[in-house]
This record gives sequence, structure tokens and C-alpha cells, in this order.
Amino acid sequence: MLNFTCPVCGGFLFERDSSYKCDKGHSYDIARQGYINLLQSQQSGLKRHGDDKMMIRARFDFLNKGYYKPLLEKICYSCRKYLKDGSCIVDAGCGDCYYSSGLLDDCMDKGFKIFGVDISKDALICASRRGKEISLAVGSAYSLPFHSGSADAVLNIFSPLAGDEYKRIIKQGGFLFRAVPLEDHLYGLKQRIYETPYKNEAVTTRLDGFELCENIEIKYELEIDNRSDIENLFKMTPYYYKTSSTDQKKLESLDSLLTQIEFSLLIYKRV
Ligand SMILES: [Zn+2]
Repeated sequence: MLNFTCPVCGGFLFERDSSYKCDKGHSYDIARQGYINLLQSQQSGLKRHGDDKMMIRARFDFLNKGYYKPLLEKICYSCRKYLKDGSCIVDAGCGDCYYSSGLLDDCMDKGFKIFGVDISKDALICASRRGKEISLAVGSAYSLPFHSGSADAVLNIFSPLAGDEYKRIIKQGGFLFRAVPLEDHLYGLKQRIYETPYKNEAVTTRLDGFELCENIEIKYELEIDNRSDIENLFKMTPYYYKTSSTDQKKLESLDSLLTQIEFSLLIYKRV
């Protein structure tokens, strides 16, 4: 069984009235948008507090246009292939839940149950706009509010890799679905900003406690023909925050952008 656990005593949390409670009486109110906050104050100072509002909004609007749908389709295909009906899935660093809510829509016949955890409350507010079927909690991917060996699968889609924590919560024989950008991902965008664009670093696929079952590469050219989508793409990447305002302005005058999109979807089995 997969349920949120109490960050104070570790007991299961059950939904009662408008809050989640453990047997010891610790209680977590359900926000109007449907999420609970399980982030302990001592954790909150350790890691960055998630993506800021502008980045979240840009990502929400960009993803809604379907530009990354080929990745979503591969996630759906792979979850159908590897996961049993009724599997309990944790979306770690779920953001606005574009991928996990798309997965639920595609796999209604599979009866998956999804829990989304993100350190950013604002991301979860966006996620709640996609529907109420995903159980949402503010929490850290490095200290997930679940018992050891309780999840059938974890989704780690462009969020920080907390390998040891995924290893802890995924049951033996369960799966990790990890999406990472490849070396040429967004190269066309970087060419428009930087004089000497660099490629992304190659990702190490080896992961302690897991065996790599499959590596699905998704590569395509994306043409964006309007300024607001180009700006959203830029703002949802870390490049925006590392780029001078002069270089940021170079993109503002662009009416179209052709860029390479390259992801890898890595599927691991917990051994
Ligand atoms: Zn408790």
C-alpha cells in the first residue's frame, strides 16, 4: 500500500474531513487547491525552494501546447509495458504534473494511482489545475514522505536525481522512469543566445540499486513560430537565469525558432 507518511512520526496519513491525519494525531490541512504541506521546517532551508513562479508559469503554458508530447507518449507507452494494473506511482519533483496527469488520462484502464511531490507549492497549485486525481504534497525529493519499499514506480522527469531515496521507496522489482536531456537538446535555442554555445553534459546512466532495462532516445526538430512560446521555452530552462539581460533581449525579437529536441527516457528496475 502506498500512502503519504507523517513527517513527524512516520505513520501513515489518512484523509479525514479536510485534512490528513496520522494515528498519533498529527494533522496536515488540505489546501484549497488540494495539496498538503509535508515539508518540515528543517528541510526547507537545505535545498532551493523549487522553481520560481515565472518559470512555473512559463513551463505550464509551454507544455500545454504539446511541444514535448513525444516524450509524454513514450512515458505512457513504457508505463503500460512495465507496470501492472493498479500500480502506485510517485512522481518525484512532479512540477505542474504535465507528464503524470497525461499518463493518468492515457492509462485510465490501468487504474494507476499517482502521488506527486514537489518542493514548490506554486508548482502544485498549477498541478491542481490539471485535475484532482493526483495526490499532491509539498515535500523534498531527497526525503520523500513514503515508507521504504512501498512504491511500484517512481517518475523522475527532469527533476533532480535523488537516487538513494528512489532506491529506498521503490519495492524490489519496481521501476524508475527517468527522463534526461541529451547533449544536443535545445542547441538551436542556445545558438541564438550564445556566441559559443555548448552542448549539454552527457548523463551517467549507472545508478546504484538499479539495473537499466531500456534507454529510449527521443529526438526531433521543433519549430516554434511565435514569440510567446519561444519566450516561455527560454524561461523554463536554467539558461534564462544564467544569461545576461543583453543576451536575453536577443530572443525577444525572434518570431520563429528551430531547435533540436533530444531526450532520453531511461527505464530502470529496482534490484
Ligand atoms: Zn504523525
